[in-house]
Parts: sequence; C-alpha cells; structure tokens
Amino acid sequence: MTYHPFKDHGSWKMLIGGAFVPGGAGDVLEVTNPATGEVMGQAPAASRADVAAAVAAAEEAFTTWRWTAPEKRGEMLYDIAQRIGEHHDELVDLETWENGKPRVQSKRDVTNAERTFRFYAGAADKFYGHSVYDGPTETRKIVFEPYGVVAVIIPWNWPPMHTADFAALALATGNTVVLKPAPETPLSSLRIAELAADVLPPGVLNVVTGGVDTGVQLVAHPDIDFIAFTGSDRTGEKILAEAARRILPSMMELGGKNASLIFPDADLDKAVEGMLRSAYFNSGQACSGSERVLVHEKVYKAFMERFTAAVAGMAVGEGFDERSVVGPMVSKRQQEKVQGALDRATAAGARIPARAELPRDARLKGGYWIPPTVVTEAAPDAEIMTEEVFGPVAGIIPFKDEDEAVAIANAVSYGLTSGVWTRDLGVAHRMATRLEAGVVSVNRVNTGELGLPFGGYKRSGVGRKKDFQEAMRSFSRVKAIQIALP
Ligand code: NAD
Repeated sequence: MTYHPFKDHGSWKMLIGGAFVPGGAGDVLEVTNPATGEVMGQAPAASRADVAAAVAAAEEAFTTWRWTAPEKRGEMLYDIAQRIGEHHDELVDLETWENGKPRVQSKRDVTNAERTFRFYAGAADKFYGHSVYDGPTETRKIVFEPYGVVAVIIPWNWPPMHTADFAALALATGNTVVLKPAPETPLSSLRIAELAADVLPPGVLNVVTGGVDTGVQLVAHPDIDFIAFTGSDRTGEKILAEAARRILPSMMELGGKNASLIFPDADLDKAVEGMLRSAYFNSGQACSGSERVLVHEKVYKAFMERFTAAVAGMAVGEGFDERSVVGPMVSKRQQEKVQGALDRATAAGARIPARAELPRDARLKGGYWIPPTVVTEAAPDAEIMTEEVFGPVAGIIPFKDEDEAVAIANAVSYGLTSGVWTRDLGVAHRMATRLEAGVVSVNRVNTGELGLPFGGYKRSGVGRKKDFQEAMRSFSRVKAIQIALP
C-alpha cells in the first residue's frame, strides 16, 4: 500500500514557531501528480504575515539555540535522522507522488536526507576555532559564530535532500532556519518539519510554503542574516541583487551545463551506462547531470550505436510502476520549457537520432512527459549546447583532441560538474586540472557524495555544501579575538 499525501495524511500545515499553522491569508498551492496532471490536494501558501512570523520565531529561537552546546545540537540532528529513517517508506511515497520520479530514485533521495542529518549531527561538535597565540600576557584566537536566521530556498528536484542539505548544515552551525520549498513539491519538506518538530525547540526550524512571492518576501525580510539558495541562476541573480543591496552573505547553488568527455581508450560499456545515468536520472532534472556528452571522433560511431539503442529502450512511466526508469517532468511549465528548447534546436538544424517511447497507458495521457532524447548536429555554441535544459536531453558533440575537448567543455557560462572517461592517468589528470567545474568525476558519475564539497564555478554558484570544512565555514562568520591579560 502506498502512502497517499492527502488520504493518509489529511490537511497540510506550515511549521512556524513550533506550531502547525494553516496559512493566514487562506491562499493555497495545488499539489499535482505529474504522471497524470491531476490535482491531488492542496498545501498552504504563506501570507506576508506568515513569513514575518516565521522569521520572528527563528530570531527568538536563535537567542538560545546559538548557545546550545554543539553536542546537544548534534544529538537532536541525530534524532531527526532516526525519525526520517523510521518514516522512510512514507517519505519515499510522498516524493514519488509530488515529484513523479521512479520510487527507487525517491528511496535514494530520502536515504540521502537521513544520511545528511546524521553527517551534520556528527559534525556539530567537531567544528571549532583555534588559538593563534597563547602567551602569559596576551591571547589571540579565532572563533566561528553562527550568522543568525538563515533563509533557505530550494527547488523541486530532490525535495528531501535539499531540505536536509541546508537545514542540517545551518542547524549544526548554530543558525536557525526559515525554509521555503518549491511550490511544486511542498509536502516532503513539510513532512520532515513535522518529524523534526518533535525533536527541536520551537522556532529553530520553520517551514513556510509558497511560490515566488513567498520567496521574495523571505529574502527581503530585514531580519534575515544569511541566504542559502538552490535554484536557477536567473533567480540566484535576483536574490544576489537583493543581498548586495543589504550586504547580506549568501550561498548560491545554481544551474549547470555539464560536459562529460569520452576518450578513445575509455571502457565504452561503462561510459554508455554512465551517460544514461548522468543525462537521464531524475528525468534529467539534475543540476549535476551531463547535458553535453563530448565523444572523441575515433569512438563516436561506436558510442552512438550503443547509446542511441539504449536510450530508445528506456522505460518511461509513472513512479509507482517498478518498471519505470524515467518519470515525467515535475510540472507542465517544466515540460513546456524542455519541449521549447528541443523545438528551437531542431528548427535550427539539430537532429534527434534517438528517443524513448512515451507511456501508452491512457490514464497517463495528461502527464508531463518528455521521453529521454538524444540531440546531435548542433554546433557547440548553439543554444541547446550552452543553455541549461533541465530535462532528459543529451547533446552529443564530437571532438578531435584534448585541447578541443577542454575548449568546448569550458566555453559555457556554467561550471558545476564535469566527467572524464579514460584509462590513461595522464589524460585524467590533465582534464581534471583544466576543466572549469566544482566537481570532476573520472570513470564514474557524480552522485553527490557526503564529505566532498559540492558547488559550482562561474554562474553555477558561490559556496559549498555536503562536506565538513567548507560547508561548516560557509555557514559561520569568523571572529578574531585578542585579549591583553591584566
Ligand atoms: P527557480 O530558481 O525557478 O526556483 C527555485 C526556488 O526559488 C523555488 O522555491 C522558487 O519558488 C523560488 N523563487 C523563484 N523566484 C524567486 C525570487 N525572485 N526570490 C526568491 N525565491 C524565488 O528554479 P527551479 O526551476 O525551481 O529549479 C531548477 C533549477 O535549480 C535549475 O537551474 C537547476 O540547475 C537548479 N539546481 C541547482 C542545484 C545545485 O545544487 N547547484 C541543485 C538542484 C537544482
């Protein structure tokens, strides 16, 4: 039996100051099943007063949370991880309903959320400043302090994991949080907030749901001390403009147009398998996925034969069907965005040598489907090869040597992840150093491993998450203290 977000849960409320509230203005978000296009039910949309109440609650809670012993904060984060584990199946179903992805992919996401809370539970009491000089008449030291109230704004592609990434990190470093999930997928964050509310003091974690307006109000609130944003670079730009006006520190996890480079000596079977995963996992709605596959001309034909055959055979279907490898787009808007990019590419001369089949079930007719698609014969500087599509579209580009591969890979405004497939250690090392990306993976696909800093170069963002040192520092301000001893 699957857990239904409305039949099994009942009405959804926001978490503000430790209380579950329905939303002051009575506005609602419609929660849709992306596989059918049917509205399943409603979640609240925060009013301006709700946002203000959440920030006030976080500010109030900060006065004690910041002085709560780190090991105590860690214990609470550990308890949240335990609770996520105990409610694993239900969270997996929730995500599958609201996002549409295959259940096996939701499982990975919920497990990652649990692990992230556990990771930062362990990190909370292992992050501390140090003494620079300790003499008989003077002491000098460096300490890390929390910022205060962190506004967390996240997208819809991995809702439990995005909730955990910034909430666990902010709480571990002694900050309090007001989190706003994407309007397409509010339920995973609300459910995690319900589980956390039994553990945390009131106001330490607040979740307000809503769309762009709620995000704008949250970012503009004068009592926010730090902004942690994950989403598109265009929204990041707007948020940074507001942050710049107020000289507000912020972390930006933005888009990508990632390239994977396949060299002639690569294990082609592994490379094909890796590219299927990298380009089409989560229906291509993955900031770290490879939207560009650069293939050396010596193996182009062999790669294309295997890759196009595999793509044509990918099973597209609803998330609760165990045979599905690829689910729908999250929303009609996303479906139209991806289809628009494909239409413009083919109108400009690109070819589509392979495409998977759409689901045949009449029940899924209204779903937001885009089948896994391969695009060729578009110039490396064409829109489809340079602008983020954020859908199941892999653009294939041939290259003749290392220099050309690096030039093409780096010639976009983004720099989030890169992949290299080769058996030659020299090539691997040269590519890893020359590629402009925050993460380079050789002979494997990036899977957002905890412990490795994740973040982008160029328009892909500012700051790092998922690791210990960089992430904990990003969410802390540095103070130098010098005391002349009497
Ligand atoms: P988006 O920027 O449209 O929205 C993201 C979030 O910001 C949502 O919660 C939205 O309601 C909110 N928002 C929108 N406009 C706002 C504004 N002016 N002020 C405040 N909040 C606002 O992005 P999306 O389409 O929902 O998500 C897809 C994007 O996210 C892609 O570009 C993808 O690459 C990126 N992404 C990046 C990472 C990463 O870690 N680097 C991870 C996942 C997704």
